[in-house]
Amino acid sequence: MHEMSIAQNILEIVESALSENPGSRLKKVVVKAGELVAVVPESLQFCYQAITAGTPLEGSELQIEVIPVRARCESCGREFRIESFFFLCPQCESAQVKVLSGQELQVSELEVE
Ligand SMILES: [Zn+2]
Repeated sequence: MHEMSIAQNILEIVESALSENPGSRLKKVVVKAGELVAVVPESLQFCYQAITAGTPLEGSELQIEVIPVRARCESCGREFRIESFFFLCPQCESAQVKVLSGQELQVSELEVE
């Protein structure tokens, strides 16, 4: 399952960050997931709760922010948001576009106490 390996990744990142601050307890973790990663937020929540149960992270909150897909046209330089699966520049209709965001998956914020 795609979401389970993502949840595992998040857990590893959080645990290594917490090990640098002994005694701290995680309240909330914010994860940015690009639309192209195709995460199902409910499913990721479920996996996160499942793998943190019984660990020091149990009860922490997972917040998922979905990042839209953005691209830049290599022909005219225009940046735009991709809303369909036609990766065409809306200005000059070139197909030479470079995806700028939407593929990332990162832990952007940790709230500890
Ligand atoms: Zn263009």
